[in-house]
Amino acid sequence: MDFKLSAADLEVQARARAFSEQHLFPNEIACDERKLTKEKLAEIRQQVIAHKLNGYIHSKTDGGQGYTPMQQILVAEEIGKATCGMWTVVWKASTPLRRGTQWQRDTFLLPFNAGKGRSCFAITEEGAGSDPSLVKTSAVMRNGKWVINGEKWFVTSADASTVVIVHAHVDGDAAKPTLFIVDMDQPGVKIKRIPQFMHSYLYEHYEMVFDNVEVEDNRRLGEVGQGFDLTKEWFTETRVEIAAHCLGAAIRATEIANDYAAGRIQFGKPIRDFQAIEFMLADMAVEIMAAKSFLYRVGAELNEGMDPKLMHAKASALKLYNSEMAGRVVDKALQILGGRGYMRENPVERLYRDVRVDRIWEGTSEIQRVIIAGQIKKRGLGIYTGWTA
Ligand SMILES: Cc1cc2nc3c(=O)[nH]c(=O)nc-3n(C[C@H](O)[C@H](O)[C@H](O)COP(=O)(O)OP(=O)(O)OC[C@H]3O[C@@H](n4cnc5c(N)ncnc54)[C@H](O)[C@@H]3O)c2cc1C
Repeated sequence: MDFKLSAADLEVQARARAFSEQHLFPNEIACDERKLTKEKLAEIRQQVIAHKLNGYIHSKTDGGQGYTPMQQILVAEEIGKATCGMWTVVWKASTPLRRGTQWQRDTFLLPFNAGKGRSCFAITEEGAGSDPSLVKTSAVMRNGKWVINGEKWFVTSADASTVVIVHAHVDGDAAKPTLFIVDMDQPGVKIKRIPQFMHSYLYEHYEMVFDNVEVEDNRRLGEVGQGFDLTKEWFTETRVEIAAHCLGAAIRATEIANDYAAGRIQFGKPIRDFQAIEFMLADMAVEIMAAKSFLYRVGAELNEGMDPKLMHAKASALKLYNSEMAGRVVDKALQILGGRGYMRENPVERLYRDVRVDRIWEGTSEIQRVIIAGQIKKRGLGIYTGWTA
């Protein structure tokens, strides 16, 4: 077993860390206060390119950086240390676009990875959350064009996107889930509401209406009925990414709490010398060690070409564990900081708000448990309790 990161891995990690510390951290408060200017955002986007991070989950042929899965994890961990979801400034095309036709690849995948245009993904609806089979958005072929009708909720980064990938049921049939690439400025695409959330995310999460939106058949992504499989592929990758963000968030919060505990004097000694505080730090360190070991193990397995079915099983476990771990660790960090941890100017306060959604989006913790339990029944306990031969 080789536990060492390669020289190339360390270089990618250092580059992502430098980007985060120099270009995201200094802009977090402006982002939290919704005062980040267009000029500053454009400057940060330039740095994404300068640090070779755009499209970092994609191969070079797909317009990405050609990083290994382990290197992608290292990038996500480093940018995940930034608050207010600022990691999202590091753009990348939605993964199902890889499966598109040559025209879709040329028109969307390659330019999006280069930073010209962006996609968001709309699955969730008012009545369809954890159970996407309840989606009501329909696509019907009429006079040679698909006509899409429906309403989507929580469309993340819609304000920064040029297209939205819509998960719809062809003919309203739940057995025919299908994805469509729809231009944001197309007639019939409407913004219903821009709700506000617990975190201060860099972009918005729109509620959108699709009112008789007509698209050519070349906008269908994958086959009719393939929508759920493509969405599942997206979930698998984003669950690993979320696990890495959560690890980064937990590490940053712990570093801040550890430094504070060493310098803060109460009752004549640093607070870290109170067992109540040092035991919290000990628990936080151990939780991070376990989460990192798990994540990097999966990274190494992915580098070796893990079976996609196993990846799906492990991605759920990773997201469940790391998101819940981040919740516990950031909560303890805030406690160690006392009142200062409750101040918005403190990164730990922002991380506390940020990591809560990681137990909800891309499948709630309960849904990850449903998947894991199903995988145990299907493939045996060994996929979780055993070790790769
Ligand atoms: C900030 C934010 C951004 C988002 N971005 C996007 C986006 O870009 N695109 C998109 O399509 N969606 C997005 N979502 C939606 C997100 O994926 C859903 O919120 C999530 O899947 C849960 O669906 P729901 O909120 O409808 O909860 P529900 O499915 O209604 O669940 C409510 C509760 O019931 C539990 N529950 C449901 N089913 C089961 C079960 N079988 N067993 C046990 N418990 C169960 C859930 O775990 C949860 O605790 C976003 C959400 C948020 C908050």
